[in-house]
Amino acid sequence: MILAYSHNQFLQLADVSYYDSNIPIIDGVIDQVIYDSRLITSPQNTMFICLNGDFRDGHDYINDAYEKGIRLFLVSKIIDIEKYKDAVFFKTEDTLKTLHDLAKNHREKNNSKIIAVCGSLGKTMVKEWLYSILSTENNVVRSPKSYNSQLGVPLSLLQIKKATDFAIIEVGISKSGEMQKIFNLLSPDYTICTSFYPEDDLLRKGLNDEFLKLFYNVKKGVLYSECSHGFPDEKIDIVTRNEKEFASFLKNTNKEPILKRNAMIAAQAALTIGLEKEKIAEALTTLPNLAMRLETYDGINSSLIINDTYNLDLNALSHSLSYQKFIAGKRKRVVLFVAESIDVDLQTAIEKEIKSASPDAYQFIFEGENIDVDVTNSVVLLKGSRTEFTNQIAQTLKQHTHTTSLEINFSALKHNLSFFRNSINNKTKLLCMVKAQSYGSGLEKTAVFLQDQGVDYLGVACSDEGVELRKSGITLPILVLNVEPESFRSCILHKLEPAIYSFSQLDLFIRELIYMKRGSHPIHIKFDTGMHRLGFDSNDVSKVIQMVQAQPEVYVKSVFSHLADASGVDKSFTNQQVQAFANIKKEFLSSQTGSILFHLLNTDGIMNFSEAQHDMVRLGIGMYGITSSKKNQNKLEPVFTWQTKISQIKKIKKGDVVGYSKEFVADKQMTIAIIPVGYADGFRRVLKNGAGGVFINSKFCKTLGNICMDMTMVDVSDLNVKEGDSVEIIGKNQSIYSMASSMNTIPYEILTGISKRVHRIYIDE
Ligand SMILES: *Cc1c(COP(=O)(O)O)cnc(C)c1O
Repeated sequence: MILAYSHNQFLQLADVSYYDSNIPIIDGVIDQVIYDSRLITSPQNTMFICLNGDFRDGHDYINDAYEKGIRLFLVSKIIDIEKYKDAVFFKTEDTLKTLHDLAKNHREKNNSKIIAVCGSLGKTMVKEWLYSILSTENNVVRSPKSYNSQLGVPLSLLQIKKATDFAIIEVGISKSGEMQKIFNLLSPDYTICTSFYPEDDLLRKGLNDEFLKLFYNVKKGVLYSECSHGFPDEKIDIVTRNEKEFASFLKNTNKEPILKRNAMIAAQAALTIGLEKEKIAEALTTLPNLAMRLETYDGINSSLIINDTYNLDLNALSHSLSYQKFIAGKRKRVVLFVAESIDVDLQTAIEKEIKSASPDAYQFIFEGENIDVDVTNSVVLLKGSRTEFTNQIAQTLKQHTHTTSLEINFSALKHNLSFFRNSINNKTKLLCMVKAQSYGSGLEKTAVFLQDQGVDYLGVACSDEGVELRKSGITLPILVLNVEPESFRSCILHKLEPAIYSFSQLDLFIRELIYMKRGSHPIHIKFDTGMHRLGFDSNDVSKVIQMVQAQPEVYVKSVFSHLADASGVDKSFTNQQVQAFANIKKEFLSSQTGSILFHLLNTDGIMNFSEAQHDMVRLGIGMYGITSSKKNQNKLEPVFTWQTKISQIKKIKKGDVVGYSKEFVADKQMTIAIIPVGYADGFRRVLKNGAGGVFINSKFCKTLGNICMDMTMVDVSDLNVKEGDSVEIIGKNQSIYSMASSMNTIPYEILTGISKRVHRIYIDE
């Protein structure tokens, strides 16, 4: 972005002034804005905007930004500007609002047409394809992916240049009330809505009326199908009304139905905007294949692969290069750019962009060439457009394991974290429990992600897990719930903070500290308020206080307890626990023990007893979209998809048996599929013989006979399937809740029981 704003122009925006109001207006320019100090690459004329995120306060990163060369800042808090003598500070009431004002101003100064793309499905694809169609004849910019709207929309608008004809901007549905703000800022010329599906999604978010408004001020809107929302008819083009026409456009493309539908929406949008039919038909034959998400998985030679063959443009490349930096930390970075062939100018530009991120190695790989750089122990960014060749390279890099995989969707996790962040008070700290391999999602990757998101604390069950976290570079404080005396030493050496639950344990821990000549080691005192698991007795509070006050080796960082039945079914029991904990807190507070964090609530506690949040909450399964609170279930997004592929298909006849112990006998001719998932993966034996099943092509297929260690047979008699087709064990069709009920257990046990050999893939959409 090259904004070319003079200081004087910037100072015209509402509420903006120099921090030091005595200085005269400086003859300088602002060309770019940035909000994340980790993304700084070219600091010259770049302004660092200190935003207040869900977890982080940008003002805490001024030093970092300054060290990276930033000399322009926008702040809304009191800053010691004396420390940064050669920098210029602007101040404002609300930095996000100023960013919006700047974007609105920029939008109004330029004449480009704004196209907003909203809806709950397929936005990104429609945006990309519309871009592809329009850019055959126009100068078009579009919003990069994975931006939330409050931030993404203004940043996207700021990319508009004088020559830009169209800006296509994706708008996510978020909170009720936000939508209107975003649309005021955008004032789109065209609004495209890809879908209202599922319909109740809109209703439950209270967005129905807000959505309607999005179509009133536009020149024209595009909707996929007729719907009952009462849109002003004369302003709307309905895609399905022109279906026949598109059928001929799309004749030559062999796209799956959902892709066809997105292509039709993009085509209608182009028509509505005024492109000629022939041009559109032609552009439709060359739509890029898009991988709609970024995948991270383990690669060969202990590498980690970020497969981002999403699109080729430079903007997205710089985004991916920064993402690689986050993930890599101190590990080596390798960039592989894969293409069938490439135009020389584009290659030069791409090379320049790659070099600016200074990776340890990079290579352009063209059709037929091999990987020449060493990827051992590196974090590899694989870029290119999605072609068969790119796919081959991606497969070569993949560590070949079991075909059964568990996908962890970090975008959904981010959404859920934000939900919990917003359900607790601003000052309440957030501790994330990552015990049991982060509920099966993978200890290290999830913890690194959570640290990056800015949570306050991590919690694990045993000190080995804590040590592993330290080795992977986690610097957050870590609470260890269950530390045995054998691991006191490693706990102390790795700055892990034990939960202390008995006098004998406390005594032994203090001895170890004395032996190691350590003082003031942080500990967390755990009280039993009714669950009857580990914990001091609530009657021992004063004795505990006396003991810790007499021991300089330890200091009490927190006092906590755990709820036995936070689901809220029988509130009276939990209320007793809540009260017992409040009494303990009172006693601590009256005994001058210094500042202590008090905490009691887990996921369901936050949902049902949020008044008892005290100073911190301990979030576990809720991060993964699971709660027993029915009214909140649909506010969370599912994080896990567990899937595999059909290994073999067989026909069996009446009287044939299936599996061990002949537990299934066919009473008619059937088709069965053998799938490579068994009880050693966590697909347990209780699911045998129709007690459970999987989904193939969105149809339920029940199990036949016993579940084997590594395999399961399922009924596919009524389906049209082939070997290699994908099989959903947990996902869109089969939720963890329903799986848990067929296994007669709870979601926790399913997640923590998915075995290690199931390949984990991390997705960021
Ligand atoms: C596991 C655990 C949590 C988190 O519980 P969820 O129900 O998964 O949110 C919180 N506190 C303690 C002490 C735990 O053991």
